[in-house]
Amino acid sequence: MYQLTHVTKSYSGSKNTVTALKDVTLTIPKGQMVAIQGPTGGGKSTLLQMLGALDRPTSGEVVLGDSTLSKLGDTKLARIRAREIGFVFQGFNLIPTLSALENVETALAPLGLSNEERTSRASAALESVSLGERMRHLPAELSGGQQQRVAIARAIVKNPEVLLADEPTGSLDEDTRDEIMELLEGIWREKQLTLIIVTHDSAVAKRAERRLHIKNGTVKEL
Ligand code: ADP
Ligand code: ADP
Repeated sequence: MYQLTHVTKSYSGSKNTVTALKDVTLTIPKGQMVAIQGPTGGGKSTLLQMLGALDRPTSGEVVLGDSTLSKLGDTKLARIRAREIGFVFQGFNLIPTLSALENVETALAPLGLSNEERTSRASAALESVSLGERMRHLPAELSGGQQQRVAIARAIVKNPEVLLADEPTGSLDEDTRDEIMELLEGIWREKQLTLIIVTHDSAVAKRAERRLHIKNGTVKEL
């Protein structure tokens, strides 16, 4: 579960300070599926960075399970990201010189497993996203939807508590979008992880249990 209490995040430049999140208090129960919508510049990425243990608030508290993320240093945040949080991006963010299998294995590198264990878990994750036949392919040899499946396999192979998806269907056509959403929902149900999706697409947002709207740094329930 996430608990954000009076979270404010400001970015200070040499001349101006922008407050991207303003006194946000929010609870997300473990296992919920949440969509986050809102205009560009509203604070979606900043909120995702707080939830993803990528950055700390200027003030206020961010708690994930037993960890108070807002009080942890970079090393501990990196450890939580590596173990508890899976990330999926609009642009897939696969390493172009690595095969699908090797891309998925990268997520297991921090966990201290044997090579055999890494390969067997990464293969199983690719099979679970129906890419068992494409493990040796490079990203450029796969369609957009297949590349996103590899990225999803990479995100879930470590069995995270939370899956954060930033516009996961933003580069895909409608049919592929629906396939990817069905895949994400299937994983969410099966693994009972918390699934948080930032999206501009209301067809995607409508599938979530809960919809949040963020504008001018303020979060509202929809
Ligand atoms: P969204 O993801 O909804 O487009 P962001 O969280 O990226 O919104 O941005 C919220 C506000 O914070 C915007 O005004 C943006 O310009 C500002 N902002 C975001 N990141 C930075 C940064 N690293 N430095 C300065 N300002 C930033
Ligand atoms: P978009 O989906 O909006 O095109 P990205 O998904 O690449 O953009 O990035 C969204 C946010 O996530 C950015 O604020 C960026 O700083 C952060 N981000 C991007 N890639 C990574 C990564 N590999 N690890 C951690 N944070 C990332």
